[in-house]
Amino acid sequence: MSPSTEIPKTYDPNSVEERWLQEWKDEDNYFDPLSQKPQFIIDTPPPYPTGNFHIGNGFNWCYIDFIARYKRMRGFNVMFPQGWDCHGLPTEVKVEEIHGITKNDVPRDEFRQMCRELTLQNIEKMRATMRRCGFSTDWSNEYITMMPEYYRKTQVSFLRMLKAGDIYQSEHPVNFCTRCETAIAFAEVTYDDRTTLLNFFTFDGVEIATTRPELLAACVAVAVHPDDERYTGMEGTTLTVPLFGYDVPVITDEAVDPEFGSGAVMICTFGDKQDVHWWKQHNLDLRKAIDLSGKMTAIAAPYDGLTTKECRERVLADMKEQGILIRQEELDQRVGACWRCKTPIEILSERQWFVKIHNEGIIKAAKDIMWTPDHMYSRLENWASQMEWDWCISRQRIFATPIPVWFCDKCGELIVPDEADLPIDPTAESPKQPCPVCGGTSFTGEEDVLDTWMDSSISVLNVTGWDGGDIPELFPAQIRPQGHDIIRTWAFYTILRSLALTGSKPWNEILVNGMVLGEDGYKMSKSRDNIIPPEAILKDYGADAFRQWSAIGAATGSDIVFSWTDVVAASRFQTKLWNIARFVLMQAGDVDAQGMDAVTALADRWLISRLSATVADVTEAMEAYQFDRAIRAIREFSRDVFADNYIELVKGRLYENEGPARDSALYTLRLSLATICRMLAPITPFFSEECYSYFSAGSVHTAGWPALSFADADADKNGALLVEVVSEVRRFKHDRGMALNAPLGAVCVYVADAFDDAGDASRALNATVTWSTDKPQLEEVISDVDFSMAVIGPSLRNKARGFMDAVRALSEDVLSSGVSHVTVDGEEIAVPEGAFDLVYAYRVAGEEVDVLTLNEGVIITVSRTA
Ligand SMILES: [Zn+2]
Ligand SMILES: [Zn+2]
Repeated sequence: MSPSTEIPKTYDPNSVEERWLQEWKDEDNYFDPLSQKPQFIIDTPPPYPTGNFHIGNGFNWCYIDFIARYKRMRGFNVMFPQGWDCHGLPTEVKVEEIHGITKNDVPRDEFRQMCRELTLQNIEKMRATMRRCGFSTDWSNEYITMMPEYYRKTQVSFLRMLKAGDIYQSEHPVNFCTRCETAIAFAEVTYDDRTTLLNFFTFDGVEIATTRPELLAACVAVAVHPDDERYTGMEGTTLTVPLFGYDVPVITDEAVDPEFGSGAVMICTFGDKQDVHWWKQHNLDLRKAIDLSGKMTAIAAPYDGLTTKECRERVLADMKEQGILIRQEELDQRVGACWRCKTPIEILSERQWFVKIHNEGIIKAAKDIMWTPDHMYSRLENWASQMEWDWCISRQRIFATPIPVWFCDKCGELIVPDEADLPIDPTAESPKQPCPVCGGTSFTGEEDVLDTWMDSSISVLNVTGWDGGDIPELFPAQIRPQGHDIIRTWAFYTILRSLALTGSKPWNEILVNGMVLGEDGYKMSKSRDNIIPPEAILKDYGADAFRQWSAIGAATGSDIVFSWTDVVAASRFQTKLWNIARFVLMQAGDVDAQGMDAVTALADRWLISRLSATVADVTEAMEAYQFDRAIRAIREFSRDVFADNYIELVKGRLYENEGPARDSALYTLRLSLATICRMLAPITPFFSEECYSYFSAGSVHTAGWPALSFADADADKNGALLVEVVSEVRRFKHDRGMALNAPLGAVCVYVADAFDDAGDASRALNATVTWSTDKPQLEEVISDVDFSMAVIGPSLRNKARGFMDAVRALSEDVLSSGVSHVTVDGEEIAVPEGAFDLVYAYRVAGEEVDVLTLNEGVIITVSRTA
C-alpha cells in the first residue's frame, strides 16, 4: 500500500491513538437489530457517575472490550452497551456540598434537578476517558437510569412484582443507617472487627451482660436456657429494668448460651439479628428507643434527645454512681456498618417495602449459568443460602426512582397507577380515579423511593429490549461481566429480578473480574496515596499499554496489583513489534499475496506451522477469557519465534535475487505480521490498526479473526533443528569473539534425516553448511596440555619449567594413558594432583575441526579454516 519510506522510524502511541480516534466511527460498533449474525449481548455494568472513571473501572472495561472486539471478529452481532447507574446518596451529598444546602431546604423536584445536572456533567467526564481508552462502546445503546425512559421500566417492574405478590410492605426491623437516614439492605452492610466493653450489672439480682447499655430502655425481656438450673422456676416471672424501673418478663429459649456470662441475656428491640428472631418467636413488645436520626426517643427519658454514644456514656456513669455496674470486660466484636459512610448500623422497625427472596430458585438459575472463573459461583450460593430476611427496597431519600403508589387518606387503601401512565412521582401527581374502596379523592403519595439496585438489577432486561411487556426476543444476554465485590448485590439481584419478571436466567455466562490494588498491594485509597488514575498511564504510554497491562497483570478473576513495570514492558513490546513490522513492511509491504502455494522453503513452512499453533492457542485462551495467556502467547511468538529466530534465519534469502525462494519468505513475513495484528486487535486496537493499515486498505477490526490451519510435521521437526543449529553456531561465533556476520569455515551438520534448508543456514552463518546423514569420522587427538600454575608453582618451584617441558615432550599415547612421574634432569618427579588438563581436538579427514553437539545426538563440525 504505502511506500515503505513513509513508515515512521519510531512508534508514538499518543499521536497514533489520537489519529485513529478521529478516524473510527461510532456506527462501526452499533448492534444491528436486523443482522442475521448470531447475537452477543453484553450486560455491561452501569458505573456510578462520580465523574471519575477510575482504574478499577478501566480494568473491568478492558476485559469487556477484549470480548466485544474478539466476538465481532468471530462474526457475532455484538452489543456493548453503556449504562449509568445514577441514583443514590453520594450525589445527594455532593449536591448539598456544592450548593451549601441540605436536601430539605428546597422542594424535592428542585433537589432532584440539581442531582440530575451534576450527574450529567459527571457522565460527560467519564465518557471522555472511556473513549480515550479505545473502548468499542455501542453508544446507540446507552442508558441513564435517572432518565424517565429508564425509570419508567423500574416502576413497571415494581408494579409487576407487587401484583405478583413478590413485593409487599410491612413494618419489620431493617438495617438502618442513621447518618444516611435510610434503610439499607443486608448486602450494603459491611462488617468490622473491634474491641468493645462488656458491661455487667443486675436485674433484681440476676446478672446481665451487655455491650449496648444505651439500649436498656428498649429491653423487652430477659431470656435464659430452659435447662439452666440457676433459673429454674423463673419463667413467667418479671424482673425490673434498672435505671428505668419498668418490668419485663423472663422467658426461656433453647438458643440462649448458658456458658456465656451468667446465662441470662436481655432482649432489646433491637440490638442484633438474634433479638429480632427472639422478638418474633416470643411475640414480645416493641420499644423504639432510637429514632431514625440516631437520637434517643422519649421512651429513653431522661436520656431522650441524646445521641446513642452520649446516652451510653451517661447510662454507664449513672450505673456506676448508683452502684449498679458490677464490672466491665473487654470483648472482641464484629460490628455491622453502612457500606457508604461506615456508620454502625442500627436495627430499626419501620414500615418498609420488601422483595421476597426465593433462595432455591436463585441458586438453581445461578447453577445454570456458566461462571468464569467457576469458583465464583460458590460466592453467590453461599450468600443466597444464608439469606434470612427479604430484600428491603425502600429508601428514605430523594434522588431515586419514586415508588409509584398512593394511599387513600380516608380508608388507607393502596392505590397503584396504570402502567400506561408511568413514570410518575406520586408526591407530585394524584390518581386519576377516586378510591375504588371508599370513593375518597384525597390521597397521599408514597414518599419512600427505591433502592438503586432496583434500577440496575433490570439492566439486562433494558438492553435486551424489554419495555415492560413480554419477554424480549433478544433475552437472555450472552454474558455479564462484573467485579467479585458485587456478586451478592448486582449479580444476585439481577438473577432474582429476571426470575420474577421473565421466569428465566438473565445470561448464559458471567465473567467475574478481580479488584485493582495499588503498587503497594493494598486497596487503592486516598489515605494510602496509592491511587493511579488511568489518565496518568494514558498520558505517558497510551491506551494500548494500559490495555496490555490489564490483560497480562493477573489471571482472570484474580485481584491485580498495579505495576508500572508491566506498563513499561507493554510499551517496550510495542516498540519491538513496531521495529519488526517496519522491517517486514519495507521488505514485503508491496508483495502480491500469492497464497500458501508460494510457500516452499523449510523455514517458512516451519514458521507458518508455529504461527498456526499460536493462533490455536490464542483462540482457545480468548474463548476461555484467559487474556493473560493470550497476550503472553502472542508476545512469545512475535519476539522469540518470529523476530529472533525466523527473521534472523531468512534475512539472507531476502537480499538475494528475486525468485521463488525469496517470494516464499516474503509471503511468510506478510502473513505472519498480518496474523499477529489480527490476534492483537482486541487487546491493542490502535497499534494493530496502525500496523495493518500499511499493507491493507481495510480495518484490522473488520478483517475477521485469523483462521489459519497449517500443519506440517516434517517442517516442525526439521525447521526446529535448523533454527537450533543456526543459533548454536552463532553462539559459538559469539563465544569466540567473532562478528556474527564474519565468514566461517565449512560447517557440516550430521543428522539422522537429510533435508533441504534452501540455503538459509549457509547465509545466516556466512559459511558453507552441509547436512550429512553419514556417521562423522571423528578422530580425537590431544592438541595441547593446559597447566595449572597455581598447582605447579608452589609445589615444584624452580623445577616447574623443566617439568612442563618434560610433560609436553611425552607422546599422545603416554599422556592419554595417564602419567604419575616424569624425569627432569635425570630426577624422577611425581606429578602433583591437578597439575594439568589435557586439551583434545578433533579431526575429520585429517583436518582439525571444532565440534558442537546438540541434545538430539546431532553433531556439528566447524572447519578452522574459513
Ligand atoms: Zn450511611
Ligand atoms: Zn379509600
